[in-house]
Amino acid sequence: MDIQSLKKQFEELDKKYLWHPFTQMKEWTEETPLIITEGRGSFLKDIFGRWYLDGISSVWVTVHGHRKQEIDDAIKDQIDKISHSTLLGLTHLLAVKLAEKLIKIVNSSLSKVFYSDDGSTAVEIGLKMAFQYWQRLGIKRKTRFLSLSNAYHGDTIGAVSVGGIDLFHKIFSPLLFKSYKAPSPYCYRCELGKKYPSCKLLCLKKMEKIIQQHHKEIAGLIIEPIVQGAGGMIVSPPGYLKGVRKLCSKYNILMIADEVATGFGRTGKMFACEHEDVSPDILCLAKGITGGYLTLAATITTERIYKAFLGRYKDLKTFFHGHTYTGNQLACAAAIANFDVFKKEKTIKNMQKKIEILKNGLAKIAEFPHVGDVRQRGFMVGIELVRDKKTKKPYSIEEKMGWKVCYRAREKGLIIRPLGNVIVLMPPLNISHQELKRLIQVTAEAIKEVTGKSV
Ligand code: PMP
Repeated sequence: MDIQSLKKQFEELDKKYLWHPFTQMKEWTEETPLIITEGRGSFLKDIFGRWYLDGISSVWVTVHGHRKQEIDDAIKDQIDKISHSTLLGLTHLLAVKLAEKLIKIVNSSLSKVFYSDDGSTAVEIGLKMAFQYWQRLGIKRKTRFLSLSNAYHGDTIGAVSVGGIDLFHKIFSPLLFKSYKAPSPYCYRCELGKKYPSCKLLCLKKMEKIIQQHHKEIAGLIIEPIVQGAGGMIVSPPGYLKGVRKLCSKYNILMIADEVATGFGRTGKMFACEHEDVSPDILCLAKGITGGYLTLAATITTERIYKAFLGRYKDLKTFFHGHTYTGNQLACAAAIANFDVFKKEKTIKNMQKKIEILKNGLAKIAEFPHVGDVRQRGFMVGIELVRDKKTKKPYSIEEKMGWKVCYRAREKGLIIRPLGNVIVLMPPLNISHQELKRLIQVTAEAIKEVTGKSV
């Protein structure tokens, strides 16, 4: 079969059988999908053999590029031994080895690893652990959570309950448990109408007000440290995260750091909490944990929390939670190889120069007439497009301006995906200087060409 017919066949089958995530399927079926067949380094290949730069690390997961030899080999070796055995009632070498590595790498007071499958499950576990911890201590009133507006913690019901993006979450409100919401540290569109630094972090003071009123009911505070990802790559101002930690300690609230997106080097440090020397009580990890290969997550906590669950079986203090593929052997093998590459290639050290290159390129994009704000922390970038730079008036949802820019970029050989009017860049950490410059150049061209017509 020639390649055109093969593509046509797959396209028809896709439209007949698949329902894609976060996708308006009516529009999908009217469009021509890009069919990916291969990946290598920072690139993805489509069915016609055309290569595209993967500017969003396949939705924030790829760390050392596609087809990384060491990770490929680790998975292949493991397949020859066993692909999966359960952690329910049994253990295995890789789960143990990986847990030890995780505890060493997080380098804080965290000491116990609970595995699951993805970001949402890591968060569900964090919430349930925090809730049950207080129940175990006999402090029964602590049943609520505090989270932020613009927060995104996943798509399961618990994770959505602590979410703060109306576009995704509002429809489900009758299903959700109630959580308190603190203002988002979104300086460009400050909810409190203030400007940083003259605001003196008023958003933290507002958070403290809520805590003062409700701390007796609040089991935990959940936060995406330093960068609120899906909310639009919102970078919190200096001192904010540290301030949140202080409030949690002061009012006896567990701090849950959701580093599903920010973990594993994305912000320029291994974990975002390191930027402000913060140690959470519960840390949620997923996405980049396997280098972007397989689905695995970890919820890591302190000895203090772990100990509250100890007792005899009959005491019913057990943490009754677990997923079938928890600690899958292939995924653990990939994660261990991922960590070894970080060490061997000094990934975090080597990305610092690239962060500067990105910063310099973005400074030029910030000058564009329809770019309202450019936010960057490490390799996490949000470029917010606006109809009117002076008034910050956004493009309307009908205009799909973010998508138009991303489609134009695709025509030029770059894959990126927007969050509304925010163009997201999040390249693999080992992208070359040359590729990084190409990423910036194509993004700039696509923004210019598409928004140029919108004046
Ligand atoms: N937390 C954060 C901060 C995320 O960005 C995401 C996914 N984008 C999740 C949780 C949910 O992860 P998953 O899609 O793997 O369930």
